[in-house]
Amino acid sequence: MKQAAVEYVLRQLGVSQMKASGNQLMIACPLAPWTHASGQDRNPSMGVTLGSGMSVVNCFACKFSGGLLSLVREIGKHRIADGSWMRENVEQLQAYIMLREEEDDELHIEEEDILPVPEFLIDGLGFYHPYFAKRNISPETAALWRLGYYDFAEGGRVLFPIIARDGEIIGIQARRVDDSLGIPKYKNFPPGVKKSRYLYGEHLLRNKQTVLIAVESQAGTVKANQILKTREEFAVGLMGSNPSQEQVDKLVAWGDEVVVFLDNDPAGIKGGQTLVDMLKERVYTTIVKYPPGTDGYDPDDLGEEGFLSCLNNRVSVVEAELHKRLKSWLAPQEERLKFEVTL
Ligand SMILES: [Zn+2]
Repeated sequence: MKQAAVEYVLRQLGVSQMKASGNQLMIACPLAPWTHASGQDRNPSMGVTLGSGMSVVNCFACKFSGGLLSLVREIGKHRIADGSWMRENVEQLQAYIMLREEEDDELHIEEEDILPVPEFLIDGLGFYHPYFAKRNISPETAALWRLGYYDFAEGGRVLFPIIARDGEIIGIQARRVDDSLGIPKYKNFPPGVKKSRYLYGEHLLRNKQTVLIAVESQAGTVKANQILKTREEFAVGLMGSNPSQEQVDKLVAWGDEVVVFLDNDPAGIKGGQTLVDMLKERVYTTIVKYPPGTDGYDPDDLGEEGFLSCLNNRVSVVEAELHKRLKSWLAPQEERLKFEVTL
Protein backbone atom coordinates (compact mmCIF):
# COMPACT_ATOMS: atom_id res chain seq x y z
CA MET A 1 0.00 0.00 0.00
CA LYS A 2 1.18 3.51 -0.75
CA GLN A 3 2.67 5.63 2.04
CA ALA A 4 -0.20 8.14 2.21
CA ALA A 5 -2.75 5.35 2.60
CA VAL A 6 -0.65 3.52 5.21
CA GLU A 7 -0.27 6.78 7.14
CA TYR A 8 -4.02 7.34 7.04
CA VAL A 9 -4.69 3.87 8.47
CA LEU A 10 -2.05 4.29 11.16
CA ARG A 11 -3.48 7.65 12.23
CA GLN A 12 -6.88 5.94 12.61
CA LEU A 13 -5.13 3.46 14.90
CA GLY A 14 -3.89 6.33 17.05
CA VAL A 15 -0.33 6.46 15.71
CA SER A 16 0.93 10.02 15.34
CA GLN A 17 4.72 9.63 14.99
CA MET A 18 5.99 7.85 11.87
CA LYS A 19 9.49 7.70 10.52
CA ALA A 20 10.24 6.48 7.01
CA SER A 21 13.22 4.14 6.83
CA GLY A 22 13.96 2.48 3.51
CA ASN A 23 10.78 0.83 2.25
CA GLN A 24 9.06 0.95 5.62
CA LEU A 25 7.55 3.21 8.23
CA MET A 26 8.81 2.80 11.79
CA ILE A 27 6.20 3.45 14.47
CA ALA A 28 5.53 2.88 18.14
CA CYS A 29 3.58 -0.40 18.32
CA PRO A 30 -0.14 0.45 18.56
CA LEU A 31 -0.71 -2.92 20.24
CA ALA A 32 1.56 -1.89 23.13
CA PRO A 33 -1.27 -1.12 25.62
CA TRP A 34 -2.35 -4.75 25.37
CA THR A 35 0.72 -6.75 24.37
CA HIS A 36 3.80 -4.97 25.70
CA ALA A 37 4.76 -5.60 29.30
CA SER A 38 5.19 -1.88 30.03
CA GLY A 39 1.99 -0.99 28.20
CA GLN A 40 3.90 1.34 25.91
CA ASP A 41 6.54 1.34 23.19
CA ARG A 42 9.04 4.18 23.60
CA ASN A 43 11.50 3.08 20.92
CA PRO A 44 9.49 2.52 17.74
CA SER A 45 9.51 -1.28 17.44
CA MET A 46 7.05 -1.75 14.62
CA GLY A 47 7.84 -1.61 10.92
CA VAL A 48 5.17 -1.32 8.22
CA THR A 49 6.25 -1.98 4.64
CA LEU A 50 5.33 0.44 1.87
CA GLY A 51 4.83 -0.16 -1.82
CA SER A 52 2.28 -1.87 -4.01
CA GLY A 53 0.10 -4.64 -2.66
CA MET A 54 -0.20 -5.80 0.91
CA SER A 55 1.60 -3.91 3.67
CA VAL A 56 3.38 -6.23 6.08
CA VAL A 57 3.63 -5.34 9.74
CA ASN A 58 6.29 -6.58 12.19
CA CYS A 59 6.87 -5.67 15.82
CA PHE A 60 10.27 -6.58 17.25
CA ALA A 61 9.00 -6.21 20.81
CA CYS A 62 5.72 -8.16 20.93
CA LYS A 63 6.53 -10.21 17.82
CA PHE A 64 3.24 -9.32 16.15
CA SER A 65 3.55 -10.12 12.47
CA GLY A 66 1.06 -10.08 9.61
CA GLY A 67 -0.68 -7.80 7.14
CA LEU A 68 -2.00 -4.35 7.99
CA LEU A 69 -5.46 -5.94 7.86
CA SER A 70 -4.57 -8.37 10.64
CA LEU A 71 -3.20 -5.49 12.71
CA VAL A 72 -6.52 -3.66 12.35
CA ARG A 73 -8.41 -6.83 13.22
CA GLU A 74 -6.21 -7.38 16.29
CA ILE A 75 -6.52 -3.80 17.55
CA GLY A 76 -10.23 -3.89 16.73
CA LYS A 77 -10.70 -6.91 19.00
CA HIS A 78 -9.15 -5.07 21.95
CA ARG A 79 -10.92 -1.79 21.28
CA ILE A 80 -14.33 -3.36 20.84
CA ALA A 81 -13.72 -5.26 24.08
CA ASP A 82 -12.84 -2.10 26.01
CA GLY A 83 -15.73 -0.19 24.42
CA SER A 84 -13.66 2.48 22.64
CA TRP A 85 -14.61 1.24 19.17
CA MET A 86 -17.68 -0.15 17.44
CA ARG A 87 -17.54 -3.00 14.98
CA GLU A 88 -18.28 -0.43 12.23
CA ASN A 89 -14.98 1.35 12.95
CA VAL A 90 -13.09 -1.86 12.24
CA GLU A 91 -15.12 -2.67 9.13
CA GLN A 92 -14.69 0.80 7.69
CA LEU A 93 -10.97 0.72 8.16
CA GLN A 94 -10.71 -2.77 6.73
CA ALA A 95 -12.75 -1.71 3.71
CA TYR A 96 -10.41 1.21 3.21
CA ILE A 97 -7.36 -1.07 3.26
CA MET A 98 -8.99 -3.53 0.88
CA LEU A 99 -9.70 -0.73 -1.56
CA ARG A 100 -6.16 0.54 -1.44
CA GLU A 101 -4.33 -2.74 -1.69
CA GLU A 102 -4.07 -3.76 -5.29
CA GLU A 103 -6.53 -6.18 -6.73
CA ASP A 104 -4.19 -8.67 -8.32
CA ASP A 105 -2.06 -9.50 -5.33
CA GLU A 106 -3.74 -12.85 -4.83
CA LEU A 107 -0.38 -14.63 -4.79
CA HIS A 108 1.22 -12.47 -2.13
CA ILE A 109 -1.51 -12.83 0.46
CA GLU A 110 -1.25 -15.57 3.05
CA GLU A 111 -4.27 -17.72 3.83
CA GLU A 112 -4.52 -16.41 7.42
CA ASP A 113 -4.75 -12.84 6.16
CA ILE A 114 -7.91 -13.52 4.20
CA LEU A 115 -10.83 -12.01 6.05
CA PRO A 116 -14.48 -12.90 5.80
CA VAL A 117 -16.56 -10.98 3.27
CA PRO A 118 -17.45 -7.63 4.90
CA GLU A 119 -20.99 -7.57 6.30
CA PHE A 120 -21.78 -4.17 4.82
CA LEU A 121 -21.21 -5.56 1.33
CA ILE A 122 -23.41 -8.58 1.98
CA ASP A 123 -26.11 -6.13 3.07
CA GLY A 124 -25.78 -4.47 -0.36
CA LEU A 125 -26.69 -7.68 -2.20
CA GLY A 126 -30.14 -7.80 -3.76
CA PHE A 127 -30.24 -4.11 -4.71
CA TYR A 128 -31.14 -3.65 -8.39
CA HIS A 129 -29.03 -0.74 -9.66
CA PRO A 130 -29.76 1.00 -13.03
CA TYR A 131 -26.33 -0.23 -14.19
CA PHE A 132 -27.83 -3.70 -14.55
CA ALA A 133 -30.65 -2.40 -16.75
CA LYS A 134 -28.02 -0.68 -18.90
CA ARG A 135 -26.24 -4.03 -19.32
CA ASN A 136 -29.58 -5.73 -20.13
CA ILE A 137 -29.52 -7.78 -16.96
CA SER A 138 -33.15 -8.17 -15.91
CA PRO A 139 -34.33 -7.74 -12.30
CA GLU A 140 -35.17 -11.47 -12.21
CA THR A 141 -31.69 -12.43 -13.36
CA ALA A 142 -30.07 -9.99 -10.91
CA ALA A 143 -32.12 -11.46 -8.07
CA LEU A 144 -31.25 -15.03 -9.05
CA TRP A 145 -27.53 -14.19 -8.99
CA ARG A 146 -27.89 -12.02 -5.86
CA LEU A 147 -26.27 -9.04 -7.56
CA GLY A 148 -26.18 -5.80 -5.62
CA TYR A 149 -24.77 -2.36 -5.16
CA TYR A 150 -22.71 -0.48 -2.59
CA ASP A 151 -22.07 3.23 -2.42
CA PHE A 152 -18.35 3.48 -1.64
CA ALA A 153 -16.88 6.83 -0.68
CA GLU A 154 -14.90 6.78 -3.94
CA GLY A 155 -18.06 6.07 -5.99
CA GLY A 156 -20.69 3.39 -6.36
CA ARG A 157 -19.93 -0.19 -7.38
CA VAL A 158 -22.18 -3.02 -8.47
CA LEU A 159 -21.60 -6.29 -6.62
CA PHE A 160 -21.18 -9.78 -8.00
CA PRO A 161 -21.04 -12.29 -5.16
CA ILE A 162 -18.86 -15.34 -5.75
CA ILE A 163 -20.76 -18.24 -4.24
CA ALA A 164 -19.36 -21.73 -3.68
CA ARG A 165 -21.25 -24.88 -4.65
CA ASP A 166 -22.46 -25.28 -1.05
CA GLY A 167 -23.97 -21.77 -1.07
CA GLU A 168 -21.31 -19.96 0.96
CA ILE A 169 -20.39 -16.47 -0.25
CA ILE A 170 -16.60 -16.63 -0.51
CA GLY A 171 -16.04 -13.23 -2.06
CA ILE A 172 -17.58 -10.27 -3.82
CA GLN A 173 -16.39 -8.58 -6.97
CA ALA A 174 -17.23 -4.89 -6.97
CA ARG A 175 -17.30 -3.15 -10.33
CA ARG A 176 -17.25 0.59 -10.74
CA VAL A 177 -20.51 2.00 -12.06
CA ASP A 178 -18.85 5.17 -13.33
CA ASP A 179 -16.08 4.45 -15.83
CA SER A 180 -14.72 8.00 -15.89
CA LEU A 181 -13.01 7.89 -12.51
CA GLY A 182 -9.28 7.22 -12.34
CA ILE A 183 -9.60 4.34 -9.89
CA PRO A 184 -9.52 0.58 -10.45
CA LYS A 185 -12.50 -0.80 -12.31
CA TYR A 186 -12.69 -3.99 -10.25
CA LYS A 187 -12.08 -4.69 -6.58
CA ASN A 188 -12.30 -8.06 -4.91
CA PHE A 189 -13.45 -8.51 -1.34
CA PRO A 190 -11.85 -9.74 0.75
CA PRO A 191 -8.58 -8.94 -0.98
CA GLY A 192 -6.72 -12.07 -1.91
CA VAL A 193 -9.90 -14.15 -2.10
CA LYS A 194 -8.86 -17.32 -3.91
CA LYS A 195 -11.31 -16.91 -6.76
CA SER A 196 -9.23 -19.24 -8.92
CA ARG A 197 -10.58 -22.13 -6.83
CA TYR A 198 -14.14 -21.50 -7.95
CA LEU A 199 -16.18 -21.31 -11.11
CA TYR A 200 -18.45 -18.29 -11.07
CA GLY A 201 -22.00 -19.63 -11.02
CA GLU A 202 -21.13 -23.07 -9.64
CA HIS A 203 -23.79 -22.70 -6.92
CA LEU A 204 -26.53 -22.60 -9.57
CA LEU A 205 -25.38 -25.78 -11.30
CA ARG A 206 -27.75 -28.69 -11.44
CA ASN A 207 -26.25 -32.00 -10.38
CA LYS A 208 -24.66 -33.04 -13.64
CA GLN A 209 -24.71 -30.60 -16.53
CA THR A 210 -24.62 -32.01 -20.01
CA VAL A 211 -22.89 -28.97 -21.48
CA LEU A 212 -20.82 -26.47 -19.53
CA ILE A 213 -19.75 -23.28 -21.26
CA ALA A 214 -16.58 -21.70 -19.92
CA VAL A 215 -16.60 -17.90 -20.21
CA GLU A 216 -14.46 -15.25 -18.51
CA SER A 217 -16.18 -12.51 -16.54
CA GLN A 218 -18.86 -12.49 -13.88
CA ALA A 219 -21.13 -10.17 -15.86
CA GLY A 220 -20.51 -12.32 -18.95
CA THR A 221 -21.56 -15.45 -17.06
CA VAL A 222 -24.76 -13.84 -15.85
CA LYS A 223 -25.59 -12.55 -19.34
CA ALA A 224 -24.85 -15.88 -21.02
CA ASN A 225 -27.18 -17.75 -18.68
CA GLN A 226 -29.90 -15.15 -19.13
CA ILE A 227 -29.71 -15.88 -22.87
CA LEU A 228 -29.58 -19.65 -22.34
CA LYS A 229 -32.61 -19.55 -20.03
CA THR A 230 -33.78 -23.13 -19.66
CA ARG A 231 -31.58 -24.66 -22.34
CA GLU A 232 -29.50 -27.59 -21.17
CA GLU A 233 -26.27 -25.60 -21.48
CA PHE A 234 -25.01 -23.62 -18.50
CA ALA A 235 -22.26 -21.01 -18.48
CA VAL A 236 -19.66 -20.72 -15.72
CA GLY A 237 -17.02 -18.01 -15.36
CA LEU A 238 -13.27 -18.39 -14.85
CA MET A 239 -13.24 -14.83 -13.46
CA GLY A 240 -10.28 -14.08 -15.70
CA SER A 241 -8.72 -15.51 -18.84
CA ASN A 242 -6.24 -17.79 -17.12
CA PRO A 243 -7.74 -21.15 -16.08
CA SER A 244 -6.48 -22.76 -12.86
CA GLN A 245 -6.07 -26.49 -12.28
CA GLU A 246 -8.89 -26.42 -9.71
CA GLN A 247 -11.24 -24.83 -12.21
CA VAL A 248 -10.34 -27.38 -14.88
CA ASP A 249 -10.94 -30.23 -12.41
CA LYS A 250 -14.40 -28.82 -11.69
CA LEU A 251 -15.23 -28.43 -15.39
CA VAL A 252 -14.23 -32.05 -15.98
CA ALA A 253 -16.20 -33.28 -12.96
CA TRP A 254 -19.38 -31.37 -13.70
CA GLY A 255 -19.58 -31.32 -17.50
CA ASP A 256 -20.14 -34.07 -20.05
CA GLU A 257 -19.03 -31.52 -22.62
CA VAL A 258 -17.08 -28.32 -22.03
CA VAL A 259 -17.43 -25.47 -24.52
CA VAL A 260 -14.52 -23.03 -24.53
CA PHE A 261 -16.01 -19.58 -25.15
CA LEU A 262 -13.51 -17.03 -23.83
CA ASP A 263 -13.13 -13.47 -25.11
CA ASN A 264 -11.92 -12.82 -28.64
CA ASP A 265 -8.93 -10.74 -27.54
CA PRO A 266 -5.25 -11.75 -27.14
CA ALA A 267 -5.65 -12.73 -23.46
CA GLY A 268 -8.83 -14.70 -24.18
CA ILE A 269 -7.34 -16.48 -27.19
CA LYS A 270 -4.23 -17.46 -25.22
CA GLY A 271 -6.30 -18.53 -22.20
CA GLY A 272 -8.66 -20.47 -24.47
CA GLN A 273 -5.77 -22.44 -25.96
CA THR A 274 -4.44 -23.21 -22.48
CA LEU A 275 -7.89 -24.33 -21.38
CA VAL A 276 -8.31 -26.57 -24.44
CA ASP A 277 -4.94 -28.19 -23.75
CA MET A 278 -5.85 -28.81 -20.11
CA LEU A 279 -9.29 -30.23 -20.97
CA LYS A 280 -9.03 -32.18 -24.21
CA GLU A 281 -7.60 -35.43 -22.84
CA ARG A 282 -10.07 -35.46 -19.95
CA VAL A 283 -13.48 -34.42 -21.26
CA TYR A 284 -15.28 -33.91 -24.58
CA THR A 285 -14.12 -30.39 -25.43
CA THR A 286 -15.58 -28.07 -28.04
CA ILE A 287 -14.56 -24.62 -29.19
CA VAL A 288 -16.50 -21.66 -30.46
CA LYS A 289 -15.34 -19.70 -33.50
CA TYR A 290 -16.03 -15.98 -33.51
CA PRO A 291 -17.30 -14.63 -36.84
CA PRO A 292 -14.99 -12.34 -38.87
CA GLY A 293 -14.89 -8.72 -37.75
CA THR A 294 -15.36 -9.47 -34.07
CA ASP A 295 -11.78 -8.91 -32.85
CA GLY A 296 -11.79 -7.84 -29.23
CA TYR A 297 -15.38 -8.99 -28.64
CA ASP A 298 -16.49 -10.92 -25.61
CA PRO A 299 -19.46 -13.31 -25.89
CA ASP A 300 -21.80 -10.62 -24.59
CA ASP A 301 -20.86 -8.27 -27.48
CA LEU A 302 -22.25 -10.78 -30.00
CA GLY A 303 -25.83 -10.12 -28.96
CA GLU A 304 -28.32 -12.86 -28.18
CA GLU A 305 -28.57 -14.19 -31.73
CA GLY A 306 -24.84 -14.04 -32.38
CA PHE A 307 -24.12 -15.76 -29.09
CA LEU A 308 -26.52 -18.63 -29.81
CA SER A 309 -25.35 -19.01 -33.38
CA CYS A 310 -21.69 -19.24 -32.27
CA LEU A 311 -22.67 -21.78 -29.64
CA ASN A 312 -24.68 -23.88 -32.08
CA ASN A 313 -21.80 -23.88 -34.57
CA ARG A 314 -19.15 -25.02 -32.10
CA VAL A 315 -16.75 -27.70 -33.22
CA SER A 316 -15.02 -30.41 -31.25
CA VAL A 317 -11.30 -30.00 -30.63
CA VAL A 318 -10.68 -33.27 -32.52
CA GLU A 319 -12.57 -31.90 -35.52
CA ALA A 320 -10.72 -28.60 -35.38
CA GLU A 321 -7.35 -30.34 -35.20
CA LEU A 322 -8.29 -32.66 -38.05
CA HIS A 323 -9.23 -29.63 -40.11
CA LYS A 324 -5.88 -28.02 -39.44
CA ARG A 325 -4.02 -31.22 -40.37
CA LEU A 326 -6.08 -31.71 -43.53
CA LYS A 327 -5.40 -28.14 -44.54
CA SER A 328 -1.66 -28.48 -44.11
CA TRP A 329 -1.78 -31.80 -45.96
CA LEU A 330 -3.92 -30.44 -48.77
CA ALA A 331 -1.98 -27.22 -49.24
CA PRO A 332 1.14 -28.83 -50.80
CA GLN A 333 -1.11 -31.10 -52.89
CA GLU A 334 -2.91 -28.08 -54.30
CA GLU A 335 0.41 -26.42 -54.98
CA ARG A 336 1.58 -29.54 -56.86
CA LEU A 337 -1.62 -29.73 -58.84
CA LYS A 338 -1.32 -26.10 -59.80
CA PHE A 339 2.27 -26.78 -60.87
CA GLU A 340 1.24 -29.78 -62.99
CA VAL A 341 -1.52 -27.79 -64.65
CA THR A 342 0.95 -25.05 -65.51
CA LEU A 343 3.23 -27.61 -67.11
ZN1 LIG B 1 4.36 -4.63 19.61
